[in-house]
Amino acid sequence: MKSPLGKMRYALAFLFIMLAANFLAAQTIRDNHAAPGEKMVPNGDGTAAAVAAGPTGQAVVTGNGINYNGGPVLKGNPVPVYIIWYGNWNGTGSNTQTTINLIETFLGANALGGSGYERINTTYGDTTGNVSGNLLFTKEVRDTGSQGTRLRNSRISAAISAQLTSGALPTDPNGVYIFATSSDVKESGFCTQFCGFHTRQTLNGQDIKWAFIGNTDQCPSGCEIQATGPNSPAAGVGGADGMINVITHETEETITDPDLNAWFDASGAEDADKCNFKFGPTSTAANGARFNQTFGGHNWMIQMEWENSRGGGCDQTLGGPFFTN
Ligand SMILES: [Zn+2]
Repeated sequence: MKSPLGKMRYALAFLFIMLAANFLAAQTIRDNHAAPGEKMVPNGDGTAAAVAAGPTGQAVVTGNGINYNGGPVLKGNPVPVYIIWYGNWNGTGSNTQTTINLIETFLGANALGGSGYERINTTYGDTTGNVSGNLLFTKEVRDTGSQGTRLRNSRISAAISAQLTSGALPTDPNGVYIFATSSDVKESGFCTQFCGFHTRQTLNGQDIKWAFIGNTDQCPSGCEIQATGPNSPAAGVGGADGMINVITHETEETITDPDLNAWFDASGAEDADKCNFKFGPTSTAANGARFNQTFGGHNWMIQMEWENSRGGGCDQTLGGPFFTN
């Protein structure tokens, strides 16, 4: 992205990176040099071949361009995903129930969880076992704005904590909590330094893993894939696809590096960071929208993930070909 604040921006970005290394892991905004659209290679229905078998009995495999740092991974089969819809989701553009339905379908039964794509995650493990490659949307709650429309991390923590202590959501140290905000909600750093991030905190007495996912309609040039996505609820709105791409990124990282001490490389890049805004070959739908995956009754446009086998690389499905952008 362009930097209207010049040196100030760089200083802030540097400060943020220093902070991020300590307590959260963020998805950086997309690199314009690697903007999708340069390589449009149709590949049939957008899905790769049959799902290959995941590794078994080899929980920690290294030497594939990403390092194991000793911490646990999430091994639930499936890993439950909880969503807090924060802000005004009865609004206009992509701030609608249509977006909510698409995202819950994406994370729901017979979709992302168990897909050849998600099975890339099974190449990661800890000393007691591997990631299952299954995740499942389990429960959602709404919060129309208990902490206002200008958030910072402490306010997000408070909003999540309230859902746990009230019992509206279970307090589950083995799950992933997605804090999804409508496009009118500001979060410090969102759209200028990152498109999303994940972290962990002790909430309601447990080690809770949560991810911030803003509606990317707040900054289409920085965090969206394309103006009209295959799942855009309205013409010209890419918010749903943009959020789905960030959710993909943050969920796979939360599963392979839940406490920020498991899988990342020498520069601190986690598995999804290593393929950030890299999509591989895509197909084009009748409305001009590009997609690279088909499951759960929809086409999707999601970044590749780093596979921790065969020397390491970004691919669209476990065992599939590696692509560099
Ligand atoms: Zn990341």
